Amino acid sequence: MIIIQYTKITRPDPSSASGSYEDHLLSKDTLLCCDKFREYSKKFPSWDYEKGRFTIVDEITYEGHSQTQIDFCPFCGEKLKYQEIKLKTKRNKS
Ligand SMILES: [Zn+2]
Repeated sequence: MIIIQYTKITRPDPSSASGSYEDHLLSKDTLLCCDKFREYSKKFPSWDYEKGRFTIVDEITYEGHSQTQIDFCPFCGEKLKYQEIKLKTKRNKS
């Protein structure tokens, strides 16, 4: 099992009804389970910023394509566990 860590960031979005949207940033320290998955992620960015999950292309249509979330590595079968890292709200970076 590998642990995929991400942070959730709420960003302002004046065009949406709620006035904000959520962005899920994949931790840079995340090590994928196998070379094949690493190569695949380079060629086809598979991190879904909206969902905070890895996805693979599920279906390709004329309008575009749909993505499906994965809980296992499609190459080696390793279980992917998603974990949110809570950001500290107050940060003094001076
Ligand atoms: Zn793998």
